[in-house]
Amino acid sequence: MELFVSQHFDDHERVVYGSDPRTGLRAIIAIHSTVLGPAVGGCRMWPYVSTEEATTDVLRLSRGMSYKNALAGLPSGGGKAVIIGDPRHAKTPELFEAYGRFVESLAGRYITAEDVGTSIADMEQVARATSYVTGLRRELGSAGGDPSPKTALGVLLGIQQAAHFKWSASDLRGRSVAIQGLGGVGYNLCRLLAAEGAQLRVADTRAELVERACEEFNARAVPVESILTDDADILAPCALGAVLNSRSIPQIRAAIVAGAANNQLASLGDGESLERRGILYAPDYVINAGGIISAVREYAGGATEAGVDSEIRRIPERLREIFERSRHEKLPTNIVADDMARAILRRHDNRLVA
Ligand code: NAD
Repeated sequence: MELFVSQHFDDHERVVYGSDPRTGLRAIIAIHSTVLGPAVGGCRMWPYVSTEEATTDVLRLSRGMSYKNALAGLPSGGGKAVIIGDPRHAKTPELFEAYGRFVESLAGRYITAEDVGTSIADMEQVARATSYVTGLRRELGSAGGDPSPKTALGVLLGIQQAAHFKWSASDLRGRSVAIQGLGGVGYNLCRLLAAEGAQLRVADTRAELVERACEEFNARAVPVESILTDDADILAPCALGAVLNSRSIPQIRAAIVAGAANNQLASLGDGESLERRGILYAPDYVINAGGIISAVREYAGGATEAGVDSEIRRIPERLREIFERSRHEKLPTNIVADDMARAILRRHDNRLVA
């Protein structure tokens, strides 16, 4: 891959490749921007088929983190890491300790945390080699720990805001929500939605997670192949990226797409395709910022869980602004969000230069 001419390269400050043959570690850390502060973002472990695929993912995810942190009002830049490997078979404590040394080598320019395929237990191994890590076990009432329930809280509030914008009613009683992916975020989102009286339709490639959601939340199981096109009122993608694309969008029946997955749009133009179909899209990195808010406040120290929750309760305000600007300026919501995030980064960059 020709990095500097790749369509996914966006003047990232650093892209660093690390390997440790003793533990089998192969990882990439991408720092998109430190304009707002040290880069913060999770570490994904995934069986990428090639280094190129892993590089593309880390470039896209790290830029998303810059935008996410900027719009969440955090004093943090954007970065992300990927470990190439199957999280079901290739994890060892030594591998994560080696990854911690890799993070340490960047001397605090990048602070890591969990993401898809990594957990609190993995981050505790990372913490043996570096202090530049967050998302660790916490004491009751203090900020931090597993970010998934916090991400789910932000997504619930975002769904309610989208419902209010679309139907002038945020009440989810009787509304149906199709949830793709029942992992850390998807499961917690089901719990919150069920408590609001929503009817759940769920899919996951892991049958036991589907069974659990059906039992605990009276959800209806939907085949993995048809969850995106289910006739639910709201679609909440909570698995992997690029699910909103030229194949899926013409078939989506939900009026709102609002979920946790990062990089839901396969390309920028897919936001416009959703808009043309009258589907309200809540930009992923705005609605899913709850987890990073929790992780950043944990890292800074001294914050409480209640303080984190009140920051997360501001996510709907930002979404409302995006929805209103989108309507007013006749631009897709993803473009409006990108413009807003870039404006924040530019403002701070100028301040540094001045
Ligand atoms: P997770 O790995 O715990 O869960 C993902 C789930 O999706 C798994 O249960 C997996 O089996 C399922 N899945 C994979 N492919 C699927 C498919 N084709 N159809 C249906 N299900 C499928 O991950 P998570 O932490 O819950 O995160 C979910 C998404 O939200 C990811 O895109 C992640 O980047 C994003 N996100 C997570 C957080 C967080 O706090 N964990 C924060 C922001 C964004």
